[in-house]
Amino acid sequence: MRIARLAGRSVLLTDEGAVDLPAPPADDVFAHWDDLLAWSATATGARPYAEADLETPVPAPRQIFAVALNYRPHAAEAGYEEPAAPLVFTKFPTCLTGPYTTVDLPAGHVDWELELVAVIGREARRVPVEKGWDPVVALTVGQDLSERISQLAGRPAQFSLGKSYPGFGPVGPALVGLDEFPDRDDLELTCVLNGETVQHDRTANMIFPIPRLVSYLSEFCTLLPGDLIFTGTPAGVGNRRVPQRFLTPGDELVSRIEGVGEMRHRFRRNTP
Ligand code: ZN
Repeated sequence: MRIARLAGRSVLLTDEGAVDLPAPPADDVFAHWDDLLAWSATATGARPYAEADLETPVPAPRQIFAVALNYRPHAAEAGYEEPAAPLVFTKFPTCLTGPYTTVDLPAGHVDWELELVAVIGREARRVPVEKGWDPVVALTVGQDLSERISQLAGRPAQFSLGKSYPGFGPVGPALVGLDEFPDRDDLELTCVLNGETVQHDRTANMIFPIPRLVSYLSEFCTLLPGDLIFTGTPAGVGNRRVPQRFLTPGDELVSRIEGVGEMRHRFRRNTP
């Protein structure tokens, strides 16, 4: 099941187009997820839609968790030891944007970070690792866009603000239910900048896989339906390249995850 958002409403995406959800689930897709799953198998009435009209599939999550240094080659390129526990920060929810938008570049060095995003569907607290998938109902694609100068300026650094400019949280194109994945633990990630592959890895290579992240986060916080977990980026970000490379006006960034989908973003200079 693929649930997306068009014109401020959640819809089912099928091969034929977009289908309005039945009346009772309305927009609270997480409260009715299992009912929607049953309904989606025979849903009819698809209408065509323009891909560019898709909005971010969870417009106002109460919490966005993000994880730093969750792939060994990325930890190494960033010059850090492999972490002993997940390193967590937040992207403030006003940074979210849809899967096919143009993002304003603030002053500084804006970098890409393709990430698998786990979508919480059920409230959860103190989840054991072996049940770590239980609160997760869907996966989607995310970009943890990051302005590196502000992110890394402090001693110690504070990550959250430099990763929360408007448009710095592209998420989409849809919530893809776990029913769609033959192997939810091993998906290919590919990030392409202006036709050149800049990141390529598999989610099986995460240091802390999704069940570990869910378990760890839920030791501290109550996880809530609609919460997003950015699970970390593989190697290949721009600020660790020689020479360094950052996003510039006109660039096209393609973010693709096997079985989940693809987002495409353009960039322009933010002139006040
Ligand atoms: Zn990240």
